[in-house]
Amino acid sequence: MKKNISDYNLIELESILKEYGEKPFRAKQIFSFVSAGSSISDITVIPKELRERLKEDFFDSTLTIIKTLTSKDGTIKFLFLLNDGNVIEGVLMKYKYGNTLCVSTQVGCRMHCAFCASTINGLVRNMSAGEILSEVIAVNKYLGGGLSDKRQITNVVLMGSGEPLDNYDNVVKFIRLLSEKDGLNVSPRNVSLSTSGLCKEMYKLAEEKLPVNLTVSLHNPFDSERKKIMPVANKYSVSEIIKACDNYFEKTGRRYIFEYVLIKDKTATKECADELIRLLKGKPCHVNLIRLNEVKENNLSGISDKDAYRFLGLLEKGGLSATLRRKIGEDIDGACGQLRRRYIMETEEKRREENES
Ligand code: SAH
Repeated sequence: MKKNISDYNLIELESILKEYGEKPFRAKQIFSFVSAGSSISDITVIPKELRERLKEDFFDSTLTIIKTLTSKDGTIKFLFLLNDGNVIEGVLMKYKYGNTLCVSTQVGCRMHCAFCASTINGLVRNMSAGEILSEVIAVNKYLGGGLSDKRQITNVVLMGSGEPLDNYDNVVKFIRLLSEKDGLNVSPRNVSLSTSGLCKEMYKLAEEKLPVNLTVSLHNPFDSERKKIMPVANKYSVSEIIKACDNYFEKTGRRYIFEYVLIKDKTATKECADELIRLLKGKPCHVNLIRLNEVKENNLSGISDKDAYRFLGLLEKGGLSATLRRKIGEDIDGACGQLRRRYIMETEEKRREENES
C-alpha cells in the first residue's frame, strides 16, 4: 500500500532515507519541497533514482484540488480529492491582516450535531496529519505562495468538517508539521482548534506545549437544551467544559473562545443570554456569535440581523466580551460540509442517471 509522504516529519524522513542507503540531508530537501507544494516528480534537486524509489512507496502527491468556488466577498471554497477517492473541503477567508484557511480534519463526522451538514452521513474516516497539512500546502500553492516570506496562508482554523479532538494524534502531529521551520512555519499561535467539547482531550491538549487557540462550540448554556442539538452533551456537561477551558487557560495563558450558533427559539433566547452571562462573566473568554447557515436537511431557522445584534447587546450589557461573526461565503455553501455533501449527491445522481440510460 502506497503512503502519503506529507505524513512524515524530518526525523521520520531521515530514517526512511537511511533505509534506502541515502544521505540524511535529503530529508530536509524533500520536506521543504513537499511543504511548498511539489509532487515527488517535481523534486528535481534529488537524484532521479531516489525520486523513482520514493514513488514506489509513496503517492506522487497527497491530494488535488478538484473544484473551487469564489464568493463575491473573495472567500474561496475548495473541494479536495484524497488518494482513496474521498472528497473533503476547505475554505479560504481573506482578511486585512492575512489569509485564513479553514481545514477539515475528518471525512465526515460522528458528532451528529443537529444543525451541521458534515455529520449527516456520519464518520467515514479520520484524516492523516499529512492529509490535513496538504490542504494548507495546496491552497498556499494555489495562491502562488511558497515557504517563509513567500507564504500566503497566515492563519489556520480547524473548523471544517470533522471533530479535531476525535482525531487527536493526527491533529496534533499536523499542528507540529505545520509549524516546522523548514516547512510552512505557521506558528501554533496562529492556529485555532474548534471542538464540540471533548473535555478529556482538552486536558490532554493543554499539556502538549502547543499554544493553539482553543475554541469550543457551546451553542446552548443549558445541558438539557444542549443535548437536543449536540449529542456530545450527554457525555460532558457545560460546567465540565468550562472547567476544562479554565485549565487550558491556566496551562497555556491563552484566552478561550466559545462559538455560539444563533438558532431561532432554541439558542437565541433571553434565557440563554442570561445563563451565558451567569456562567461566563469574569472568565478569560470571548463569545463568538454565528448566524446559522440554514441546511435544508434539518428544519432549523436562523434569526434576523436585528435579533442577532439584540442578542449580542444582551451579552455585552451583561459584561461579556462578544462579537457577531460577519457573514462570509453565503453564496457558496459556506457552512461546514455543505459543499462536500452537494458534490457527493450530484455525483451519485450522475451515476444513477448513467446507470438508467
Ligand atoms: N467539530 C468542531 C469543528 C467543526 S465545526 C466543532 O464542533 O467545533 C466549526 C463550527 O461551525 C462549529 O462551531 C459548528 O458548530 C459550526 N457549524 C456547523 N454547522 C453550522 C451551520 N449550519 N451554521 C452555522 N454554524 C455551523
